[in-house]
This record gives sequence, C-alpha cells and structure tokens, in this order.
Amino acid sequence: MPILEKLAQPGQARHWTDSIPLEFHYTAGVAGEEFRRELRDNGRFLVSKCSKCKSTYIPARMYCPSCFIEMKDQFPIDKTGYVYSFTSVNKDRSGVDTEFPITVGLVKFDGVKGGIVHLLDVDDSDRVSFGTKVVPFLKNSSERTGAITDILAFKPVSTEPGKVTVDTGTAERRAAGTKDDEARSLLHSIEESGYPIEEDEMTISALRNKIGKGELLTREEDRLLHRLGDKAKEWRKAVKSSSETEPTDTLSG
Ligand SMILES: [Zn+2]
Repeated sequence: MPILEKLAQPGQARHWTDSIPLEFHYTAGVAGEEFRRELRDNGRFLVSKCSKCKSTYIPARMYCPSCFIEMKDQFPIDKTGYVYSFTSVNKDRSGVDTEFPITVGLVKFDGVKGGIVHLLDVDDSDRVSFGTKVVPFLKNSSERTGAITDILAFKPVSTEPGKVTVDTGTAERRAAGTKDDEARSLLHSIEESGYPIEEDEMTISALRNKIGKGELLTREEDRLLHRLGDKAKEWRKAVKSSSETEPTDTLSG
C-alpha cells in the first residue's frame, strides 16, 4: 500500500513483526580515546593542558571548560595520586550483601583538575583517609584493552623518608601471615589438649594439610578450626578441674 494512501476501512490495516538491525557505538571522544590508548599501550594517564589558563586536566580532554579553547598540549603524568573522597559499600547493585566491604574513591593528582573514580584496594577502609597517597594498579599490558577496567584499583603507598614503595599486597601478606600463625597455634593447641578428635579426625587432618602447606583457610574452615579450638579449650579445662578435684572427691579405702 503506498505510504500516502489513506485507510478507508480499518480492516485493511495490517501489521507484521520483524526487527530492524541497529547497532550503537559510543566513542570515548578524540581525547578520551587518546587517554585510553595511552593507558593501554604505556600504562600511563594522559592529561591535557590549556595554553591560556595553564590548567591541566585528567582525563585528557579536547577543550578547556574555562577558556573554551582547544587544548593541544597533551602528555602523560607519572604522579602519585591522593584520595580526595571515598566511601565503602556493603551491598552490590542488586542490594545483596557483599562478602567484603568495597571501597571506592575519587583519586586526584596534585596540580591537576579532574580525577578518576575507581576501586581502592585496602583491606580495611580505616586505612584510607582523605589525602592518602595512592598509585594505580594495572592489568598486565597484554591484558589491557583500553578500558577503564585496565586499572584494577588504586593502592595506598607507604611514604617513608627517601623511599616511596608501593604497598604491593604487603598488607594482605601481613594479614595472611598473622592468620597463618594463628591457625598453626590453634591447631597445635587442639592437638596438645588431648581432646578426643576421633569424629573430627577427617576435618582436622584436612586443615592440618592445608595449614602445613601454608595455604589460607576459607572462612568456613577458619570457623571450624575455631570451633574445634573452643572444644579443645573446654576439654583442657575439664581435665584440669577433674584432676584438681580428684583427690578430695575420691574416697579413700
Ligand atoms: Zn583554559
């Protein structure tokens, strides 16, 4: 039916089902793309500098929002960032509790306008405060695609005099080490207590195996170990009190 022809009878109207192939591509923009390319290829953050007001912006952008002029001067920065603002969340997007609190922050760089919102990799949000120095942790260059997720997270740096070292998982290692020691001594105390472990022998030997290899226990196993530790403690107490009370309780002859 020609498109301009009017329908005289409603019964003449027809419909059919089909799909129209549409595809959308959203670009990051000229400067946005350059920022991503620099991140992917060289693992650095590209900034733009305005020739008029001398402001520098991260991520790189084409126009200065103050002067409305094109910024042609772009260069990567190699600065340590700092936490401008942060928050910890305990629920995911569906409102489901997360296993651990997730800390996100706005990271800024001295003398640079703008910033990057990303994950902060900290064991404990108490370790972060406004101004905490952080450095980005990136995926391996072979895995980077030019996405903002090429940055895995920002991590705090320890800034001892004359030395700026990245806190590469030392916190995790320290925490893991402490947990490891704790597990070892707990296991030792269970074994020493003389607590009859028959029914828990399988569990304990699995734990012993894991602890022996220096592997981290899962939360479930950790809980189990503590439960057994409590039982062993009770047992030791019971043995002690019975040995103390025995002489008076035992009737002679
Ligand atoms: Zn400007």
